[in-house]
Amino acid sequence: LLTARGIRKSFGDNEVLRSIDLEVRRGEVVVLIGPSGSGKTTVLRSLNGLETPDAGILSFDGGPDLDFAAKVTKQGRLAMRDRSAMVFQQHNLFPHMTVLENVIEGPVRVQRVPKAQAIADAEALLERVGLAEKRDAYPFALSGGQQQRVGIVRALALKPDLLLFDEPTSALDPELVGEVLKVIKELADEGWTMVVVTHELGFARQVADEVLFMDGGVVVERGAPGSMFTNPREARTRQFLDRIL
Ligand code: ATP
Repeated sequence: LLTARGIRKSFGDNEVLRSIDLEVRRGEVVVLIGPSGSGKTTVLRSLNGLETPDAGILSFDGGPDLDFAAKVTKQGRLAMRDRSAMVFQQHNLFPHMTVLENVIEGPVRVQRVPKAQAIADAEALLERVGLAEKRDAYPFALSGGQQQRVGIVRALALKPDLLLFDEPTSALDPELVGEVLKVIKELADEGWTMVVVTHELGFARQVADEVLFMDGGVVVERGAPGSMFTNPREARTRQFLDRIL
């Protein structure tokens, strides 16, 4: 579905991504782990067009190769952005809009889906994550876990090819983490393609087809979660796992 080659990004003198390669096949779940500041969020934002890499090539199936060392047109960037949708660490819901209004905003305003259709789609998705009765509630009236589930529904409503999750549970109270991970796991089981940044290694083990361990802007090690978590090849991976397991 997606190929990224040699993605580089610096902020001033800070070289945050030093040539990242990534391949995501349709239906696959790729999990990014690594210490704070290793560049995981910047990878996701680059895949989503929120960040423009300094160099590297990105291509989605059926789309053009975007070569960031050359000039990428606005059209190319927009085409790429539409292929994925991001779920953020903080849900980023609009506080002055109801749950339903939040969910239909993207489809109606950006994708020009007829409003009645967008509402029907949104209701079906809310039902699926157990929030049908919250459609007219405002975000402040929801628990953190419910807000984050709405955040997921908002991403799904865009009907992206690829879902990107940036530490979707790290801002939640521990007792709310499970309900959000359960929804993500169900989506993975349904065959959604996703790239997930998370520190929840138990969850990574359940859902990931491939895990990438990043440190210092490079992918230090990649592989199936079972073998990486029990028997990492690289000392840096082992140190990281020892710290958080
Ligand atoms: P965390 O787990 O803490 O979110 P991360 O692995 O996701 O970390 P990134 O958020 O990608 O790491 O950040 C990598 C580095 O890039 C950090 O040193 C960060 O300070 C820097 N950085 C990220 N975004 C910007 C920005 N917009 N401007 C300047 N520096 C940035």
